[in-house]
Amino acid sequence: MIDYHIHSYFSDGDQTIEEIISTAERRKLTAIAITDHSDADGKFMYIRDTNPPRPLKEYISEVRSASKTTSLKIYLGLEITSFENNDEIFIPIEFNSLDFILVETFFPQKSYFTEFDPIKYAIQLKNKVKIPIGLAHPTITHIENNFDMIEKHDIFIELNSDKLISKPNEKQNTFNRLKDLLDSSNVRISIGSDAHIIFLIGGVREIWDFIITNNFKNRLILPP
Ligand SMILES: [Zn+2]
Repeated sequence: MIDYHIHSYFSDGDQTIEEIISTAERRKLTAIAITDHSDADGKFMYIRDTNPPRPLKEYISEVRSASKTTSLKIYLGLEITSFENNDEIFIPIEFNSLDFILVETFFPQKSYFTEFDPIKYAIQLKNKVKIPIGLAHPTITHIENNFDMIEKHDIFIELNSDKLISKPNEKQNTFNRLKDLLDSSNVRISIGSDAHIIFLIGGVREIWDFIITNNFKNRLILPP
């Protein structure tokens, strides 16, 4: 099993990179990704008062060197929150050293994000940096409503069963709708728990089983 959405001390996670790795090893995951919160300029967001803000290049070097100490595959991403759409975006050079970027989605859009269109921003990022760009934990309804653009621009979708399913009694229906979309396209996927605490690392069993049962493992953005 894999978990491609985990937060650390670099933003609002409750754990160090080392603690994430040892937990993932203990839970027999084969691959993980650290995906801390950043703004569009590469500055970490939601940092706890107890942790000093640190630059993106330290994040990259710390995670990359920690990954040499384990047989676990460790990917490096960011979860970017932007609040506005500009006609032109500028990206920090460090974005090129990441393995993928998640764009945080706010659906339905909260009042203070009304101007922001995550799909438009994801497309702009795609044109600037040659790594997979995807939507963090969208709901099934928003995947369906934006599927043409997602498919056309090769934006991946991150699957997180808590957030995917709009209502608890719609679980089976949601998975059926997701299967139809994936069967009818080549859209790529990721899987993530969005763990901010140790307890949640690897909490992706339901989605993982769905992926394996339906043979969608080859759609993952990065090898498990
Ligand atoms: Zn997150």
